[in-house]
Amino acid sequence: MKKIGEGKSKLLFEDGQSVVMEFKGDVRCSTQEVLYDLRIAKIRALFTYEIYKLISQNIPEVLVPEMIDEKTLKMESATPIPLEWIPRFVAAGSVVKRFGFEEGYIFSDMILKIDYKTDVDDYLITDELIVEKGILSPRELCEAKELCKKIANFLNLYFREKGLVLWDFKMELAKNKDGKIVLIDEISLDGMRLKDLLTGESFDKDVYRRTGDVELLIRAYEIGYQRIFG
Ligand code: 5GP
Repeated sequence: MKKIGEGKSKLLFEDGQSVVMEFKGDVRCSTQEVLYDLRIAKIRALFTYEIYKLISQNIPEVLVPEMIDEKTLKMESATPIPLEWIPRFVAAGSVVKRFGFEEGYIFSDMILKIDYKTDVDDYLITDELIVEKGILSPRELCEAKELCKKIANFLNLYFREKGLVLWDFKMELAKNKDGKIVLIDEISLDGMRLKDLLTGESFDKDVYRRTGDVELLIRAYEIGYQRIFG
């Protein structure tokens, strides 16, 4: 397999028509130091695999990756779109800091925040800029938003039935060889805010943002995983 890239949290390899994604096990956030733990790599890989399966059962155009080993997934090869798609149901993080919403404010409707990825940082971008920069055509942008909304609304309802509240999460999309917009990359508790409906207990990276304790984080990820898939 040929190595085609290395991100902060994954190694990427080309394998014919597929991309192989090996998780590194890093834990990153602005309030704590970066650390690496193999258990984190395994939890993130398994969560991603299971959530793709769940989404695919309800949104068949989402293809399930193959799990090659405990920290490695294989997906259809597609050209990544340099945007992060972040559906939000409840305010936290950047929308609290930048737009003055109170933490925990419930949005009247789901808000889809789109960030432009650069080597320096990720920047909030508008529809017009996405089209003007040639990242997506208006039709592709529409297709991408529809896919994000379908996935987000499905997960929001599914988690609610499990007694969990989805505050926000990050997705990445790509264009496949037929020009179709597809879901790629990780979806895990590393890029999600998920809390218990009654107690407000967090099962996501907020645990590490607050405590800097990786054992507490792993425990939270394990409970979150069990609550959703167990
Ligand atoms: P915020 O906009 O508050 O920084 O992030 C919103 C949600 O998207 C959070 O659940 C956060 O963890 C996730 N998110 C945003 N950017 C990234 C990223 O670059 N990597 C990961 N793993 N998650 C992200």
